[in-house]
Amino acid sequence: MTRLKPVAPPAVRWITRTLEEGGFETWTVGGAVRDALLGLPSGDWDLATRATPARMQRLFRRTVPIGVEHGTVGILARDGTMYEVTTFRRDVETDGRHAVVSFADTIEEDLARRDFTINAVAWHATREVFRDPYEGRSDLETRRLRTVGAPADRFREDYLRILRALRFAGRFGLTIEEGTWEAIGPLLPGLPGLSAERIREELLKVLGQDRMPSTALDLYAESGALAVLYPELDAVRAGPAWKHVLAAVDRLPPSRPYLRLAALLRPLAQSEAAALLVRLRLSNVLTDEIAHRAGAVPLPDADAPEVEVRRWLARHGPARLGPVARLELARARAHADLGGQPDRSPKAVVAAWRRARAVRRSRPPLTVGDLVIGGTELKRLGLRPGPHFGRILDGLLGRVLEEPELNRPEALLAEARRLAREAGADV
Ligand code: ATP
Ligand code: MG
Repeated sequence: MTRLKPVAPPAVRWITRTLEEGGFETWTVGGAVRDALLGLPSGDWDLATRATPARMQRLFRRTVPIGVEHGTVGILARDGTMYEVTTFRRDVETDGRHAVVSFADTIEEDLARRDFTINAVAWHATREVFRDPYEGRSDLETRRLRTVGAPADRFREDYLRILRALRFAGRFGLTIEEGTWEAIGPLLPGLPGLSAERIREELLKVLGQDRMPSTALDLYAESGALAVLYPELDAVRAGPAWKHVLAAVDRLPPSRPYLRLAALLRPLAQSEAAALLVRLRLSNVLTDEIAHRAGAVPLPDADAPEVEVRRWLARHGPARLGPVARLELARARAHADLGGQPDRSPKAVVAAWRRARAVRRSRPPLTVGDLVIGGTELKRLGLRPGPHFGRILDGLLGRVLEEPELNRPEALLAEARRLAREAGADV
């Protein structure tokens, strides 16, 4: 059994002491305890207590009512951190979409409603003892993921637990215990009943993982969850691109989950990627951005004519250069890792990126708005406003992208006259 002991921050011990002096048993539970036992830096230290929210609010001066109906109060410590403290709870009834809970009297009841044994280890921050009725520590040691209680029941109570199993197994390199794994397949039809938000947040957590998200994504695929939730991606998995896509996702930093999402969606048609994002109820802005990045055309090679770079910048927007180049670089590196014939070496991508940055730095006109003449000037030429204005301005931009020096009033007016005459206007 692991000899590692969680070291709770002083504020956690202070909260524990204060609650216990008030007569309320208090434990730390969940992710922070688990991570400490794995020797990883602990994230949020969550506490579970016998005290009700009202009691907590009386015992502490600075509190935030985060989810009082669910028993959760935020306690602001002197170190400036807010700790979530939740009244012991037990599952009372479930609908598969979330577990419905009520307050409970003991830590044991609270641990019984938790999803996996590794997440159901309680640590007493001041007495420094464990409460580990499901042997989560031993499972951590042997790298096993198991549900607390009968897997099929626990998954049916809240189908999100299936996705959480895949995520935790991937994140910590755990083997999903046979019974738990076997319960997943038949229950997959319950997944689409979850809200889009919960499915999305799960996927984003997978993509925000420090360790390779590919492990969890492969488990999505193997378990069949991918086919149920993301059939478009399951089709990719059937082909040779999948390995490369996952390697590219891994190559991107965990701090950029949306960029990783774009890498994952890369093999899809842009409309298909957009449809998937809409289904996940991502905001319109994010949907556009991610789909656009996923479907961006490759950067022109470093030795391509400069006009191609300007056209690329005009088409995708100069702000997309960084993200798209990062995506291309991740793909090129993934190809290099896996062997095979890459479209372009990482070095060539870096060179293309550097070159495009230099072009961008020279601030060439890239949009109709950047042109020195506009509708007003066209009217002064005697042209009547109408849809052809847009066509003329687009034509001017096309010329200016070829030759940025043309972006002077006289030159553009002459060009505008020519374009207008071509279109049959009398100017
Ligand atoms: P992470 O590092 O991803 O935040 P975590 O274990 O802290 O991991 P949370 O989603 O923050 O995960 O939940 C905190 C704890 O609450 C879990 O460790 C688990 O004990 C319990 N829990 C969370 N979601 C569920 C669920 N759907 N069913 C049962 N227990 C859950
Ligand atoms: Mg957490």
